Amino acid sequence: MILMCSQKCFPASLARLCGIVSLAAALALSCLLPVQVLADAAAIQPKQQLSDHDSALRALLWLRTSGEYEALCLQTFNTALAHVRDTVRTPSADKRVKPPAVVMDLDETVLDTSGYSVYLLSKGLKHHEAHWRNWNRENLDQIRLVPGARQFIKNVENEGVHVVFISNRPDAGRDGTIQVLRKFDLATQAALNDANGVKLLLRTNTSSKQSRRDKVNDKYTVIALLGDNLNDFSDDFRSPAVNSIDERRAMVRKHAAAWGSRWYVLPNPIYGNWTRYIDWKNAEQYFENSK
Ligand SMILES: [Mg+2]
Repeated sequence: MILMCSQKCFPASLARLCGIVSLAAALALSCLLPVQVLADAAAIQPKQQLSDHDSALRALLWLRTSGEYEALCLQTFNTALAHVRDTVRTPSADKRVKPPAVVMDLDETVLDTSGYSVYLLSKGLKHHEAHWRNWNRENLDQIRLVPGARQFIKNVENEGVHVVFISNRPDAGRDGTIQVLRKFDLATQAALNDANGVKLLLRTNTSSKQSRRDKVNDKYTVIALLGDNLNDFSDDFRSPAVNSIDERRAMVRKHAAAWGSRWYVLPNPIYGNWTRYIDWKNAEQYFENSK
């Protein structure tokens, strides 16, 4: 699919296409070569081969073509749905106080906007708010659904559970986001029919989602959160609570009991806050202990 998109949208990317074919050929050939030959070849690989472009391309290919990506998404939604059903079908005092809700992030949790990353890669651009805004406005047909997302939302709503979207898409572009949700028939109960305005909480003055989560907690009993970024779950994963890769991972372990029991993570190897802590110019340092 990425190849079709490249040909359709980016006619200048033929050279990259050749690169992909070469990579595939090299991988196929590697299956036939003796181990020592492969080791020698690895020893003479220049560092430049670990380029941003190659890394981004591999991440995009994995997300857009691999069955493993789709399986992980379905696994996450299936596990979350089982939890939701188990919770609402088991009588508890909490449910009588406030109606139950599931909180979901949008991009790379419900909406697959990897087409934007394909666009950046093909144009040699870095992410910028203006690029993102323009791409969304002009490429509605490029936005897809994360596998299993729509069925999950429908099943959750069929259980009488509200779905609330908390996204860092700008509130100034609210109409555009609702247009995307409408495209996928997700703007019926969620987003549009809530008079109190807590079904679609977009970014206004801060990327922290905590105040928006608090707003949802005031009205609902939140029984599950789904996202592709640790910041979708708690500000414990933001500065000042964490300021490094190690601290971030330690915080994940601190919350070990929440994963898969209340917090559900969708895979996103392309972008996210995890990238901010990496020293990209010295990326080889992260592999030192495997020498
Ligand atoms: Mg996201």
